[in-house]
Amino acid sequence: MLKRLTFREKSVKEFLGFREEEASGEKVDRKKSYAIRPIPLCKGFRDRSQWTYRIHTGQKVLSCSYVWYIEGPKERILVDAGVSGSLFRERGIPDEDVQSLEDGLKKLGLGCRDIEIVLVTHLHWDHVALASSFSKATFMIQKKEYDFALRPHPAVAASYQKELFINLNIHLADGDQEMTRGVKVYLTPGHTPGGQSVGVQTSEGLAVITGFCCSLENFYPPAEVRAKGVEIVAPGIHTDLLMAYDSVARVKEIADIIIPLNDPKFMEVDRIP
Ligand SMILES: [Zn+2]
Repeated sequence: MLKRLTFREKSVKEFLGFREEEASGEKVDRKKSYAIRPIPLCKGFRDRSQWTYRIHTGQKVLSCSYVWYIEGPKERILVDAGVSGSLFRERGIPDEDVQSLEDGLKKLGLGCRDIEIVLVTHLHWDHVALASSFSKATFMIQKKEYDFALRPHPAVAASYQKELFINLNIHLADGDQEMTRGVKVYLTPGHTPGGQSVGVQTSEGLAVITGFCCSLENFYPPAEVRAKGVEIVAPGIHTDLLMAYDSVARVKEIADIIIPLNDPKFMEVDRIP
């Protein structure tokens, strides 16, 4: 399996060459553009400032936890390994299940054992809670994230659970890397030390699933916030506030379609785009 992955470094421009080709009206090979299938697993309310740093503290906002299937490449690729409402409830967070991981995959004609690659955005426990279900998969994680998660700083240690990822078949990435033609990971740290966002080339340009927990308001703050000159908001949870801000800016810059990891707007969406 690993031999089929290409970990060559490629510049963003080179990666985006396909998009430029499309914009210039040249012939486009549709077979090389993919789609993302959101699989919502559970939902619940969070403090709004958990996503948008120091904004709307004390207000509640609906949040959703997903895994995302990338439709199109010959490799069967999933983004994140999922969590369930009951696992949140065990930790005192009253989330409700939307559907089980198995039921969500089944709707796409897949089972957990069909997944070959799991691109793990980051190692917060709720992104790898169900990782052991994918017995045949290679898990792609940024080296910086993995090293930190093995020995997390005590300030954030409660967000990590080593047992969830220590026995997986892991491939460590180091920075931006193309996974397969049309699918690329981008190092976007700050929410965690080595978070990675996932770019997927689609018929409507580059869709990017963020490598950090956030909502659409991080990218497009409400009018009353923008009125103060704030165009981008850092994630409320972070290990480095400035890097977290820069990662939001980077995703906003490169993406034609922004897919924030926790935004509820994809709960009813079958396919992006
Ligand atoms: Zn997170």
